[in-house]
Amino acid sequence: SNTLEIKNLNVSIGDKQILKDFSLTVPKGEVHAIMGPNGTGKSTLAKAMAGHPDYEVTSGEVIIDGEDIMEMEADERARAGLFLAFQYPMEIPGVTIANFIRAALNARLPDDEELNAPDYYKALYEKMDLLKIDRKFTSRSVNDGFSGGEKKRCEILQMAMLDPKYAVLDETDSGLDIDALKIVSEGVNSMRGPNLGALVITHYQRLLDYIVPDVVHVMYDGRIVKSGPKELALELESKGYEWVKELAAETV
Ligand code: ADP
Ligand code: MG
Ligand code: MG
Repeated sequence: SNTLEIKNLNVSIGDKQILKDFSLTVPKGEVHAIMGPNGTGKSTLAKAMAGHPDYEVTSGEVIIDGEDIMEMEADERARAGLFLAFQYPMEIPGVTIANFIRAALNARLPDDEELNAPDYYKALYEKMDLLKIDRKFTSRSVNDGFSGGEKKRCEILQMAMLDPKYAVLDETDSGLDIDALKIVSEGVNSMRGPNLGALVITHYQRLLDYIVPDVVHVMYDGRIVKSGPKELALELESKGYEWVKELAAETV
């Protein structure tokens, strides 16, 4: 079972239920997109998968290659092969990107093991070359004074180094300029292949011009109301979210 399987996930914030029997399966090797209007629970899904303490999972499962991860700590989820693009701190003054990513990789290893520096830098520079990132970049502090594009470059480099089985990228509508869009999409596209399943969450169709998804899911009011091929994103763009609301009413 090479899939990321989200099964009947119910998630509340306080006494408000946000995800309502949310179900979705991403087979390894595929890129799926979730689109939906603001406030529909897209970020709630990503945060619940990350184990964020404010998001109470009242029932449901998230299964990675047959293994339920919802009882795991964040580092165990990473070890199981899950990567969430936003889960890292916004700014860490004094910690270089190179050391930060090294710490993230070491955290996934058993306690008595550590990466050796030459191997680490060899792998890091390989990924940086692949992603066309300047060597000077990794000696900067994490997110310290970064532009939107640099934040994305840092995020994608982390993802490439962690080499996850499944990646969830919650691309919020704000701050994604064309540069940042291209960095994210080139990064995801360069990692695309039989060993990665990706779930790209986005408010705007525009990102999907660059990352062409295998499947598009439309989300409304805490659940998926329609799934289809990439053309669904275009249909959504032309018909608008009012159409989604009508779909949701039909499928309750
Ligand atoms: P989306 O990412 O689709 O825009 P969110 O998952 O951010 O939606 O939000 C879903 C709902 O949960 C919204 O009604 C939002 O106001 C509410 N919400 C999100 N985060 C919190 C929070 N930390 N505390 C209270 N309500 C929240
Ligand atoms: Mg939002
Ligand atoms: Mg959001």
